[in-house]
Amino acid sequence: MLLPIVHAGDPVLRQQSRSVSPQEVRSKEIQKLIEHMRETMRGAPGVRLAAPQIGLSLQMAVIEDRKEYHKEVSAEQLALRERRPVPFHVVINPVIRTAKDNHVVEFFEGCLSLPGFFALVPRSRSVQVDCLDHRGHSKTIDASGWYARILQHEIDHLSGNLYIDRMCSRSFSSKQNWEKFWKGKPIGEVRFELGC
Ligand code: ZN
Repeated sequence: MLLPIVHAGDPVLRQQSRSVSPQEVRSKEIQKLIEHMRETMRGAPGVRLAAPQIGLSLQMAVIEDRKEYHKEVSAEQLALRERRPVPFHVVINPVIRTAKDNHVVEFFEGCLSLPGFFALVPRSRSVQVDCLDHRGHSKTIDASGWYARILQHEIDHLSGNLYIDRMCSRSFSSKQNWEKFWKGKPIGEVRFELGC
């Protein structure tokens, strides 16, 4: 079932989501919700979807970066972003334990709740995340590159934050203009030209 995606301006995107107990994770309702979120993410299509984006204030997000999505991105851009395929999984009650290094990287980022826009967003290059999996079991994720960015974007959603709270606001761009002016440019050049 494709669920309607909530857009910026809806208060649910600005609330602290509540945590989900391991028992709850194993309930029929949550298991069904995980499937519906997967379908909705794939239908968008997107590489991530947080529960608040479908109007539910729960600390849950689904992630999947399929190889077929990478066809539209050049090999050079994939390498720069350290973007590799990530199999489908759900993260529940995620907490960033440590950023393994303080290295910050900047790339253009979008969000299904702000359709048609992109902006430069600084994020830690790598993170370690404690969470529950789809069975309610504890796990720790070690992520770097684009996957680390996806996790940070999702964890922001669960505490009521959007990328526009972290972006270089001067880089905010429509998709059309991002493709026309900025998509293929080195980030250093983009920052210089925009005054970020
Ligand atoms: Zn988002």
